Amino acid sequence: MMLLEGRKALVTGGGSGIGRAACLIFAREGASVCVADRNVEAAEAVAREIANAGGRALAVEADVSVASDVVRMLDRADGAYGPVDCYFNNAGIGTTETHSRGKPLADIELEDWNRMIGVNLTGVFLCLKYQLPRLKRGGSIVNNASIGGLIGLPNAAAYVASKHGVVALTKSAAVEYGQAGIRVNAVCPGHVATPLLGSNTRDGDALSMRNPMQRYGSADEIAELVAWLSSSRASFVNGSTFTADGGRLAGG
Ligand code: NAD
Repeated sequence: MMLLEGRKALVTGGGSGIGRAACLIFAREGASVCVADRNVEAAEAVAREIANAGGRALAVEADVSVASDVVRMLDRADGAYGPVDCYFNNAGIGTTETHSRGKPLADIELEDWNRMIGVNLTGVFLCLKYQLPRLKRGGSIVNNASIGGLIGLPNAAAYVASKHGVVALTKSAAVEYGQAGIRVNAVCPGHVATPLLGSNTRDGDALSMRNPMQRYGSADEIAELVAWLSSSRASFVNGSTFTADGGRLAGG
């Protein structure tokens, strides 16, 4: 039996990187998938890829930092295949997009801080706020945090604060909704070569050498963990954070 047979999934930020990989793996494992992204062309391309491989997918345009977009996204997804029971709150932005790359805390502009928090933290809050009441028959939510949700990283204070917040929301939701049969967990990837890190990433560069495996992780390597966490094989896993970082946090 496939890992997610008969399940209905929704992935935010599903048009690229880790979210795209999750959409494809969820579909491969038998789920119907709502691919949500603020970039609707990217979401549509992923939905087409799934359909071409014989799966079921729907693309929806949504900015997770806008409450009305989140509600519309969830309505569209529930309307398409029946109630979603498997959410991956993955959409996020990095320091490049907010012009805070390489800046120590005191140099971060308030506007850039607000944008980072608005997408990475308020976006996850809004998703959880409107997803939790819909999971009347239980289900799974996985949030995409980061190793920056567990430790400090230099010159990334806004990102690190947003991701620590995602871990905090994960734990809060888990303790409040476990009794309702809803499991809420977070993944904390190390460095994965996606557009979020910029276009110059290659194995062997300084960032990739920071973990004991001395390479970037792939989007698939994160998405496989998310698929397992979303499945009934993880039925007693709740409120936990899972690193997939090549051993980075195991070192000092
Ligand atoms: P990516 O840039 O490849 O993909 C992010 C996707 O999210 C894009 O399709 C983008 O359009 C979408 N998106 C951005 N803001 C959005 C919004 N407001 N509403 C809806 N969609 C939005 O990046 P990625 O590396 O796949 O990142 C996915 C998640 O993984 C992020 O939350 C990121 O913080 C986290 N993460 C990434 C890494 C890494 O090294 N790449 C490490 C740890 C955690």
